[in-house]
Amino acid sequence: MSEKIQRVRGTRDLLPEDSNVFRFVEESAYQKAKLYGFGEIETPIFEFSEVFHRTLGETSDVVSKETYDFTDRGGESLTLRPEGTAGVARAFISEGMSQNLPLKFYYSGPMFRYERPQKGRYRQFFQLGAECLGYDTPHADVECIAMAWDLLQQIGISADCTLEINTLGDAESRAAYRDALVAYFKSNESQLSTDSKNRLEKNPLRILDSKDEGDKKLNADAPKLEQYLNESSRSFFKKVLAGIEKLGIPFKVNNHLVRGLDYYCHTVFEFTTSKLGAQGTVLAGGRYDGLIEMMGGPKTPGVGWAAGIDRLADLTPKELAIAKEVLVAVIGADDAGEDESVKLAHEIRSRGIKVENFLSGKMGKKMQKANNKGAHYALILGGNEVSSGTVTVKNFVTGEQQTISRSDIATFDFKI
Ligand code: ATP
Ligand code: MG
Repeated sequence: MSEKIQRVRGTRDLLPEDSNVFRFVEESAYQKAKLYGFGEIETPIFEFSEVFHRTLGETSDVVSKETYDFTDRGGESLTLRPEGTAGVARAFISEGMSQNLPLKFYYSGPMFRYERPQKGRYRQFFQLGAECLGYDTPHADVECIAMAWDLLQQIGISADCTLEINTLGDAESRAAYRDALVAYFKSNESQLSTDSKNRLEKNPLRILDSKDEGDKKLNADAPKLEQYLNESSRSFFKKVLAGIEKLGIPFKVNNHLVRGLDYYCHTVFEFTTSKLGAQGTVLAGGRYDGLIEMMGGPKTPGVGWAAGIDRLADLTPKELAIAKEVLVAVIGADDAGEDESVKLAHEIRSRGIKVENFLSGKMGKKMQKANNKGAHYALILGGNEVSSGTVTVKNFVTGEQQTISRSDIATFDFKI
């Protein structure tokens, strides 16, 4: 091969330094999910294309230009999942879970979107998310948001994040608002971007989400959904806001927040940050009461969110992700010591203590590497120690060194 082999554009190799932080984020989320009673669900990485194409809406960015669609060898049209909710809803329907409501699911895994790659925006990226099915009460929205907030706190980034929240109202309110929006944009159609001209027919609400400068100008004076909300939608939103206020979670109502996907109603929210440049949304979600019915299942309310792990991990202070635990280095000083070192390391690891056995190189180099790795202790083992049944223990923190009986290692108190 003439050229060096490369990874595919928009994908990443997560090396231990990064994957440590990823793992910390995922474990923190998993822990929160358990506290809130969300069970883990793992749906397939690919589904029949219609699972995503029908539910996310043909005009959504995700479906119109970002999905990885392919035909498999059996001629099936399949799509790599671009997000988690549609797969969870599909599982709910195909596994016939409607008798067991309410149900709460947590997931974590890779998602795929054909996007323009840049920092914080990848073609294979990672999401974790939560879906709460079967509750039509605003308290469910509040619990979902609280769980998200707890997670952001646990991983040390809540101070960098702002909760923006809005309501899309119920179907009736949305229809009334839609008519008003269409009338407004039709009278200014010449100033709309091409993308937004297309949205005008299919989903005018999306125009409010546009990043086009001309669209943004028009949006500033567009009618506000607020004025078209019916009484029950208004009251629902009030209860959500009162709930998050009660928990002391700071938030900002943003009337322009509409979210990109077709299936949302009532509450929509995003946690955004100014610390990640253009890729400012770290976690986003909302209520989707019509989704499951739209997919052919029984009418089932739902609310949930998804977070981009790549972005969360970027914000997470690295030192938080490093477990504070003792590290023991085993150093074979010569051949006889190295021969014995694996057994010694094995014994200590069986006590649940982290051991790095330096398997080759000169004694001095091994000590240096152990120190660089942040080892707290070095156990030095040479021919002399092996024949006399002892081990030399060096404490890297205090500098003290002592020789102890090999059998005492089993109970030696390794501490930081
Ligand atoms: P954006 O506006 O950044 O494109 P989105 O609205 O398309 O985000 P969602 O579909 O709501 O994103 O996905 C939820 C979260 O997943 C986002 O808030 C973000 O943190 C993350 N995410 C989405 N797309 C990507 C991507 N291509 N690379 C990395 N993270 C992503
Ligand atoms: Mg997007």
